[in-house]
This record gives sequence, structure tokens and C-alpha cells, in this order.
Amino acid sequence: MSIQVVQTIFESILETISAKEDELGKLDAVAGDGDHGIGMVRGLKAAHKTTQDTSTTSPSQLISDAGASFSDAAGGSSGALVGILIITTGNKLQDDSMDTVHVAEALELGLTRMCKLGKSGPGQKTMIDTLDPFITSLKTQVDKPLSDAWQAALPAAEDGMNATATMTSQKGRAAKLGERSKGHKDPGAVSMFYMLQTVSEVLKSA
Ligand code: ADP
Ligand code: MG
Repeated sequence: MSIQVVQTIFESILETISAKEDELGKLDAVAGDGDHGIGMVRGLKAAHKTTQDTSTTSPSQLISDAGASFSDAAGGSSGALVGILIITTGNKLQDDSMDTVHVAEALELGLTRMCKLGKSGPGQKTMIDTLDPFITSLKTQVDKPLSDAWQAALPAAEDGMNATATMTSQKGRAAKLGERSKGHKDPGAVSMFYMLQTVSEVLKSA
């Protein structure tokens, strides 16, 4: 994966999430504080800027730098949680081995750190319910090139996201109003799916 692909990934994710900012805010307003779209866009603008202004020649370093910028700027639970996912993934990846096996491994470590930081796990109506099944599926596609494997793992992520609509919030602000969140998807699960979907599009055209 080149520096340019990393730049395009963050540029495209910023575009996607900016277009969904209101939708994510409305979902977060159901049982949270309504700031999920705003926070994600703020974080992604900072991450995108970092990828543009960089002098690094290391794509994996650029991923972790972008994650740190995201985390600082986004704020909130998702700032810290998505931030640690991106930073850990970048730190774990090696520039000369960004194939499906290694990307799945790096994302898995990122998820582990996210769960530890959030004291959370699958089934609690969070972004983890999109990310965890995605990684599980990615790990079964390691014989495929990364772009094909990533695309093949998306339906698992989408099913996980949709399943959050039937769950009761157990983590974050929404946990206080858990029952009210029933029938609506978790905002973090939805933004996570949009991000994974966007990465797939970039990888396919890279
Ligand atoms: P905040 O809750 O600080 O306002 P956001 O609105 O940006 O932050 O993000 C809310 C999202 O963060 C939730 O929809 C959920 O997916 C995720 N989230 C919150 N707390 C946790 C946690 N402990 N573990 C995993 N994900 C969490
Ligand atoms: Mg919020």
C-alpha cells in the first residue's frame, strides 16, 4: 500500500462521513447527545490534513499519524476508540507486508485495544458490532488479495451493523437510555460500516 493510497483512503472517508454527518447526528440523538457526526467529521478533517501535510515516506507510519490526529480532534468516546484502532493498526503494520493476513492481524490487535479501552465487547450495541464480524470474516479470506478479501468481508460488517437495531445499548452515553435506543442502529456501528465500505472502494480502484 502506497502513501498515495493511504491519502486517498482518508480523503474518501472524510467525503463519505461528511455526507452522512446529519444522519449520524440524528442516530446519536436517539439515545446519546447527537454529536457523533460532528465529532467524526472534525476528527477526519484533522486526519486528512495530516496525510496531506506529511513528509513521511512510510505508509504505516502515516496511518498511525493520521489516527493520532483523528483522536485529538474528534474528542468523545468515538475519538478515543476509533483513534486507538487506527493508531494500533498503523503501528502493527509493516510497510513491506500489507497483505490480507497482516492487515487482518493489525486490525484484530486494534480491536483488542479498542475493547480494552472501552471495557466493551460484541453484543453491546457499539461500533464493535460492525468491526468484530468484519475482522472475523476477513480472517477467513486470507487466500485472496486485500481488495477482494476486504470486499468479501463487508456483508458480515453490514449484518453486524443492522443487528445493533435490535440490541439495547450497554456502553457509552446511550446506555443510560438503553431501551430508547431499541429499534435504531447504533451511530458508531453505522459510521464504522461506512468507513469500511469506503476503504473497500478505494482498494478496488487502487
Ligand atoms: P460520545 O458518546 O462521547 O458522545 P460519539 O457520539 O462520537 O461519542 O460516539 C458514540 C459511539 O461510540 C456509540 O454509538 C458507540 O458505537 C461508541 N461507543 C461509546 N462507548 C463505547 C465503548 N465503551 N466501547 C465501544 N464503543 C463505544
Ligand atoms: Mg455522542
